[in-house]
Amino acid sequence: AGGVEIEDVTCTFTTKHSRTTAVDGVSMRIEPGEFVSILGPSGCGKSTLLKMIAGLVRPTTGTVRLLGAEVRGPQRRIGFAFQRAALLEWRGARKNILLQAEMRGMDKAAAARKADELIEMTGLKGFEDALPHELSGGMQQRVALCRALLHEPPVLLLDEPFGALDALTRENLNTELHRIWRETGTTVVLVTHSIAEAIYLGTRVEVMSPRPGRVVETLPVDLPRERE
Ligand code: ADP
Ligand code: ADP
Repeated sequence: AGGVEIEDVTCTFTTKHSRTTAVDGVSMRIEPGEFVSILGPSGCGKSTLLKMIAGLVRPTTGTVRLLGAEVRGPQRRIGFAFQRAALLEWRGARKNILLQAEMRGMDKAAAARKADELIEMTGLKGFEDALPHELSGGMQQRVALCRALLHEPPVLLLDEPFGALDALTRENLNTELHRIWRETGTTVVLVTHSIAEAIYLGTRVEVMSPRPGRVVETLPVDLPRERE
């Protein structure tokens, strides 16, 4: 499992004063275990597309299917991380990660085990009790990534997750993300406006153009996948 099917999806936002077609007729099939990079300039509808996969925004027309079932509301089987880590300032790193478990009513012992495994995997060991403001931007994004992965979602959605970080931190985290993808086998959809990042990480790159947001090109990435 882990597949996503997007079928001729459009999304138009209507407010009192304007109508914006954010996504206009996008079709895409994401196979289980793929790493799809969605590349495009600011405002081309990338975030909106992710939100439709997550069931946070309803398509105006067209359908999104997740693991074979039509998406009609917020999805449990998805992990989501954004450009801003959005951590609770008064909770330590581990407790921020475990928030996911509390929200979803996961078994406490199982969640604790998974949290420790992710903390280990992302190099957060020793920082379990650190408050968000005591952590660097890179470390905060690692916490957000762990939080997104705690319930072992078959699909991980990432919206410019490292966009606010400096180039070196970003590169390190991308390497880690690649390793996490390989080790967990989760399907990843990454939104970015960095061509290098899209190609480095993706098994496929979907290029979107703005006004209105459309997929204009699909590029298979045929690079050696081993980066160690
Ligand atoms: P990207 O992620 O590629 O920067 P977005 O999906 O955030 O693009 O936005 C695409 C377009 O839709 C933009 O013009 C944006 O202003 C508009 N838009 C996004 N969300 C809303 C909303 N909730 N209400 C109105 N317009 C929106
Ligand atoms: P990168 O993401 O490139 O590793 P970071 O700035 O996130 O860069 O962290 C670099 C290293 O600095 C981390 O691996 C960690 O060991 C250490 N570090 C980060 N934040 C802190 C902190 N708040 N206190 C002490 N050491 C830290």
